[in-house]
Amino acid sequence: MRILVTNDDGFDAPGLAVLREIALSFTPDVWVVAPEVDQSGAAHSLSLRDPLRMKQWEERLYAVRGTPADCVIMGIRLVLKNEKPDLILSGVNRGSNLAEDITYSGTVAGAIEGTLMGVRSIAFSQASAFGRPGGPIWDTAKQHGPKVIERLLALPWGDGVFMNVNFPDREADAVEGIEVTRQGLRSHERLHIDQRSDTWQQPYYWLAYQFRHAEPPDGTDLNAVHNGRISVTPLSVDLTAHSVLAAFAAKF
Ligand code: MN
Repeated sequence: MRILVTNDDGFDAPGLAVLREIALSFTPDVWVVAPEVDQSGAAHSLSLRDPLRMKQWEERLYAVRGTPADCVIMGIRLVLKNEKPDLILSGVNRGSNLAEDITYSGTVAGAIEGTLMGVRSIAFSQASAFGRPGGPIWDTAKQHGPKVIERLLALPWGDGVFMNVNFPDREADAVEGIEVTRQGLRSHERLHIDQRSDTWQQPYYWLAYQFRHAEPPDGTDLNAVHNGRISVTPLSVDLTAHSVLAAFAAKF
């Protein structure tokens, strides 16, 4: 078994080392191709106007100056010389990727690119309260990751399907099981513009989120992680709204 690992936080991120370790518990044939600089929020973008530069940092560890999608393509086409891995793991992201985060996430995009290239792919994120002292509890992902992968690999997924896994912000032994969930949705009203002033009295802006504590609906990724469970959401690269397609098809 061969595993390719990537992420969006960068090749030196602690979560990447955690995921590499998880991968090594399955096989010694683990390759890491990850962005040279933090690509959080890069989503499924490709570098089309700049060349891709790649450096080998360690045996089987490469840093690409590009996005997570670039890394997966470079990993399979160049590093692995078109010998596809059996599995692509992306993460473990610093912070959760839940609800609409999925569409902004470079971590999830690594799994999307892997799926498009015909490889089973899983995105991993470790939820962490903003400003938690000591950072995310990486041990939770490390302890529970192998079991989640094992259980997912034992089932058929179907074409174009990938998995989004989020570990809750709890110590490993306080996790309350695994829940298969649907993608949730937060209120976009919490997204606002924070205006500040530079030393030249010119305004500049930060996109900012207001954190609210609401109980998200049962069955969602948000609810599972909020209640201390590991969330596993099956996602599809096909974004077609099939119910609308069927309804419209009859009317046109
Ligand atoms: Mn990230």
